[in-house]
Amino acid sequence: MKAFFREYFKLIKFASSCKGFLILAALCMGVSTIFDGVSLGMIIPLSDRVMTNKEIVIPANLPPFLASIIAKLNSLEPLVLLKMMAIFMITLFFFKGVFIFLQNYLMNIVGQSVVREVKNRLYAKFHRLSLEFYARKRTGELISRITNDVGFITQAISYALADFIYNSMQAFLFTVIALSIAFTISWQLPILVFVIFPLISFPVLRIGKRVKKLSTEIQDRMADLNSLLAETIQGAYIVKVFCREKYEEERFRGINYQYYKYMLKSIKRTLMLSPFTEFIGALGAVIILLIVGKEVILGKISFGVFGLFLGSLMSMIKPIKKLSNVHAINQQAIAASNRIYSILDEEVKIKSKNNAVKIEDFKETVRFEAVRFGYTQEEQVLKDINLQIKKGETIALVGPSGAGKSTLVSLLPRLYDPQAGTVSIDGMNLKDLRVSYLRNLIAVVSQEMVLFNATVRDNIAYGKDGATEDEIIDAAKKAYAYRFIKNLPQGFSTIIGDRGFRLSGGERQRVALARAILKEAPILILDEATSQLDSESEQLIKEAFYHLMDEKTVIAIAHRLSTVQKADRIVVIENGKIVGIGSHSELLESTPLYKKLYEMQFLA
Ligand code: ATP
Repeated sequence: MKAFFREYFKLIKFASSCKGFLILAALCMGVSTIFDGVSLGMIIPLSDRVMTNKEIVIPANLPPFLASIIAKLNSLEPLVLLKMMAIFMITLFFFKGVFIFLQNYLMNIVGQSVVREVKNRLYAKFHRLSLEFYARKRTGELISRITNDVGFITQAISYALADFIYNSMQAFLFTVIALSIAFTISWQLPILVFVIFPLISFPVLRIGKRVKKLSTEIQDRMADLNSLLAETIQGAYIVKVFCREKYEEERFRGINYQYYKYMLKSIKRTLMLSPFTEFIGALGAVIILLIVGKEVILGKISFGVFGLFLGSLMSMIKPIKKLSNVHAINQQAIAASNRIYSILDEEVKIKSKNNAVKIEDFKETVRFEAVRFGYTQEEQVLKDINLQIKKGETIALVGPSGAGKSTLVSLLPRLYDPQAGTVSIDGMNLKDLRVSYLRNLIAVVSQEMVLFNATVRDNIAYGKDGATEDEIIDAAKKAYAYRFIKNLPQGFSTIIGDRGFRLSGGERQRVALARAILKEAPILILDEATSQLDSESEQLIKEAFYHLMDEKTVIAIAHRLSTVQKADRIVVIENGKIVGIGSHSELLESTPLYKKLYEMQFLA
């Protein structure tokens, strides 16, 4: 129970920025509740005075103001009272409608604000977390957090919290009315009312717990579905060429069935609550009816007072039923909120220190000193890397697949931090630099360069905030992309499809290259495509690279002879270690691995 309150409090904390609206909504609910009480109280004059023209009889010492109201009601003519009540009722229901609207609207403002805020916080957090986090999580799971889980939080705040406050107020009011009448009749009656409550709450709590567990299962299945969707839609090409449509369909059906199964289980339990509580409530009401009915027959209380008593008991059932649903919704929302917090509370591993240096330019050297790194503690991918790169140099990294070349270059923009040793720029440890300033010095063109489903212009402009049309065209020309872009149906305004689907491999690379050129960063990291490009594309990309190599400091993961030969120095990496540094001809002499690679790959 303590855990429930702690977790619920954390959930409600999402709404802390909307305190004002919450308080206003609660006030409106208070007013609506009073209106509910007054409209129920009208049973007394209506049945005792208007319908039967008898005296209202309450067997107790009433507070003076209530006694004077009853005396006044007893003195009025039934017809006069009927007209007065008609006007009063219309006014009452009009204002009740206004307050109900206000409370619901205010609670929805709170709920929608919370969704907006939580989505923004999650999205911002996604981009603060390092790549190591993304390697651990599935895309579909993360999308689920921001689409489905956030929905549960709105439910809990817009509806469950509203229902909780309003129905607690109602239940409290009707309990007070019922108990005060019950006390005037017999002392056993209130005890009976008190026995009914725990009877109702017991199954509510038990079922609520089960619903929370099921909700976690449901969300896990939802994440599975989203992951499968994302993978197979992005990988539609692979699915087709391997004829795996049937297999994928079966896989989807399987997970979809699991989702359906858990969903129905949860719905069954939620739906069981209402009839259950209603039955227990009705049982209690019938027993009470037997006792109090006798008092009316004996003339100890008037029919109207009996009506109010019964009415308040019956009116208690609805809020209690609603409160039981509130618990189930809250349990689902708590499960969702825990999942959301697990991301919001995730430690941001790569961040700028408070007094981080805002490095503006690269002046002299990049240095890797005794660098060790592994994606996991157990497996070392880079082992004792020592490397100096001077401004203006072109370094080609070569080595067998999986040797650690991409890993090594990913340390420079601080996509990962080394576990030992340091990486520095101009003598400053990267960890002491402001991350955004550091990354501004580096442009990357990688094998898996993702293009966005936008126009060619937007894809290139992504490299620089507020880039002008001239700058974009200039970058496209430098990347030898201008001519093919001009020939596209809408030129620079052509939409290029998801991940650049509508462009050829070579075209995609040149757009990615134009984007990197536009960034005007002094250091360029190139991860050459391993896939075969047509000879025209290859020639154009080569030309573009040559120009860049003259202007910038380039670190290229080289798969092509041309890049290797143009490099000032070639670094040979094997199994996470540097096994040779030198020029092409030096390495052919000194490093057997290089000779082997050269013969195998570059001469192929
Ligand atoms: P290639 O030329 O094939 O691209 P590479 O030399 O660039 O290879 P890396 O991509 O740096 O090699 O990978 C080095 C090792 O680290 C490989 O064994 C790879 O399986 C592993 N690795 C790469 N990325 C991750 C990751 N995100 N999580 C865990 N291990 C990884």
